[in-house]
Amino acid sequence: MRTDLHIHTTASDGRLSPSEVVSRAAMLGMTAISITDHDSVGGIDVAIEEARKFPDLLMIPGVELSTAAAEGEVHILGYFIDHRSVKFCHDLERFRNARVVRAKRMLEKLADLGMALDWDRILDIAAGASVGRPHIAKAMIEQGYVTSFHDAFEHFIGHNKPAYVKREKLTPVESVGLVKNAGGLPVLAHPAEIEMLEPLIAQLKKAGLVGIEVHYKNYSSATIARLDTLAAVYGLIPCGGSDYHGFIEEGDGSEIGQVDVPEESVRQLVSLVQLPMAPLLGENEDSTK
Ligand code: AMP
Ligand code: ZN
Ligand code: FE
Ligand code: FE
Repeated sequence: MRTDLHIHTTASDGRLSPSEVVSRAAMLGMTAISITDHDSVGGIDVAIEEARKFPDLLMIPGVELSTAAAEGEVHILGYFIDHRSVKFCHDLERFRNARVVRAKRMLEKLADLGMALDWDRILDIAAGASVGRPHIAKAMIEQGYVTSFHDAFEHFIGHNKPAYVKREKLTPVESVGLVKNAGGLPVLAHPAEIEMLEPLIAQLKKAGLVGIEVHYKNYSSATIARLDTLAAVYGLIPCGGSDYHGFIEEGDGSEIGQVDVPEESVRQLVSLVQLPMAPLLGENEDSTK
């Protein structure tokens, strides 16, 4: 089984469309994937539809929520969320609106730093997606202000850099609750970079966390071993994914499936889902939860 439970699409800041991600994953021989866009489930229906062509591929509806945390950039993944829940979609829309407000403020800061950018160009680049810093980075490259994504994040728009702006977000505990209320399974994303990780895990476990990403692009075997132990200690499913965005600029040969997630972890996630499998396959047209 080849599994990648963390993939972005054009519904947020990924390069490939949801259907391109699904067909690419099938072509690569993947057997389980999850599309986890930032604050958006806009790609899920299309992905489920495309996945019907590949009976051997399980397409898990997912989402990735950014949270407000003292511990740094804490992201919560939600698997098997009811992506048609009116309440959940409404909450995501609020987060996306906050992203727009924040991106505009970042443009003001960049202008103050002598790097004027056109807001309409950001909207063009995002093309209806959940607006994120990579869209700003792309505009900065186009204008010749920086030479790469790395350059943009490292010097200007990365966490706490001169043009960085926080936005209104839920706390990690609240985000776990949001995923649970949407019928989903909350999982802590890319935990290795988080300061004071263990107290956070203990707190989130109490709130209903079911897994942590143990396998993630570029994690060393020592890191994987450390996180695997934490997962075992706290009774969490060892999950993982590549966090594929398809950024050409990264030039690191990133690809769907560049992680080694245990088959058993997918089985455990599936066994925890309260929803019947039918809605996941797009057969339930009128979920209003
Ligand atoms: P945002 O959701 O607007 O806060 O932007 C976060 C996204 O920016 C991440 O999901 C990555 O896609 C991208 N990102 C964050 N840090 C970096 C970095 N150092 N280099 C390149 N991309 C980054
Ligand atoms: Zn991203
Ligand atoms: Fe993330
Ligand atoms: Fe991600």
